[in-house]
Amino acid sequence: MSTKEEYDCIVIGAGVQGSFTAYQLAKNNQKTLLLEQFVLPHTRGSSHGQTRIIRKAYEQDFYTHMMEECYELWAQLEREASVKLYRQTGLLVMGPENSQSYQLFKSTLQRNKVPMVTLTRDNFSQHIPHVNLAEGDGAVVDITAGILYADRALKTVQGQFQKLGGIIRDKEKVMDIKPGPIVTVSSSAGVYQAKSVVITAGPWANKLLTHTDLQLPLEVVKINVCYWKEKVPGSYNVKQRFPCFLLTEGEESKEHIYGLPSNEYPGLVKICYHMGSKTDPDQRDKQTDRSDIDILQRYISRCLPGLLPEPAVVESCMYTLTPDRHFVLDHHPSYSNIVIGAGFSGHGFKFGPIIGKLLCELSLGQVPSYDLSPFRIRRFQAKTKSAL
Ligand SMILES: Cc1cc2nc3c(=O)[nH]c(=O)nc-3n(C[C@H](O)[C@H](O)[C@H](O)COP(=O)(O)OP(=O)(O)OC[C@H]3O[C@@H](n4cnc5c(N)ncnc54)[C@H](O)[C@@H]3O)c2cc1C
Repeated sequence: MSTKEEYDCIVIGAGVQGSFTAYQLAKNNQKTLLLEQFVLPHTRGSSHGQTRIIRKAYEQDFYTHMMEECYELWAQLEREASVKLYRQTGLLVMGPENSQSYQLFKSTLQRNKVPMVTLTRDNFSQHIPHVNLAEGDGAVVDITAGILYADRALKTVQGQFQKLGGIIRDKEKVMDIKPGPIVTVSSSAGVYQAKSVVITAGPWANKLLTHTDLQLPLEVVKINVCYWKEKVPGSYNVKQRFPCFLLTEGEESKEHIYGLPSNEYPGLVKICYHMGSKTDPDQRDKQTDRSDIDILQRYISRCLPGLLPEPAVVESCMYTLTPDRHFVLDHHPSYSNIVIGAGFSGHGFKFGPIIGKLLCELSLGQVPSYDLSPFRIRRFQAKTKSAL
């Protein structure tokens, strides 16, 4: 504990959000330290795995608006690092035609003039083979959507951050944060000081925020990441132009079910349930509930006849949910030089570049590029020891 290095900013947590924030800070000539508790890369948070869906299809305009710029930022990173991070596949959105959620998806796409196609019951199977569209369901395709290569994206942005002079220290768990005009951060290996700190600790956010007398209404759930085997290899393959898909609600459940074409594991299609069971992030594998897998099995038997309704591979990941499923992007209510990015509620990966930009703006005291009112802490009337 002999070091006491000084930085402009310390970012805690090297998942997708912390890595993009650190990169943006370094781009803005800030001397930046990115601290990560595990050896990188790791599979214990929320950002690991090979793929994520990127889409403009949302129920709320503010996400669709942010995604406009976000696509450009992903492309910019691809160019800077000469690497491919995005593959366009389209996103098929299905749901009960008369339901509020399906209609919101559809109208947001239309209102924002996102390139899209509406499928009819008659032409559905011609465009989307091997999928049964449920009675009463509508279907639209967000043409702009696709796959992000997640692990590769993380490696790329961390590499670009280092090229800009940023410092990553992994296997260094932050044990304490002492707020003040200069914030002191103690890790398992050193003591650091900075003008500002950004907390992007994913499922561990509340554990870290304890040191600053703040608790947010976050719930951490374990997601069973399931891969399903094709009966005929290639039927749902990305090369056959099978799209990503999202079912807003169905016979089996009110929560979303989403999937990606077979790609990373040959012959296996990733299909997940957009909810899981509560867990402590340090005890993730003790959560063994499989009721989500039962729901997926029933759905796959009913609507995806080309897949064996038994998962071939099950991996683990975590969501950090807020009550309204919108992110937290804000200053700490008591300490303006502590910035928080949390509660990405299972849909934050695609926003990484724009979240990085926004958290960087907040930590530099700049006016954020977007209206952050949906993401402010005050919406929770959070229970804090110090009054909000
Ligand atoms: C199965 C699954 C599918 C998903 N699909 C999509 C999708 O298709 N599209 C999409 O946009 N989003 C998707 N998401 C959501 C997206 O992946 C997350 O919103 C995003 O990864 C959250 O990133 P994060 O940086 O906040 O958290 P994390 O990736 O968990 O990063 C937090 C980091 O902080 C570190 N940390 C914590 N405490 C400390 C400490 N004390 N000291 C040092 N380091 C610490 C952790 O080790 C971790 O590395 C999915 C998520 C899951 C789980």
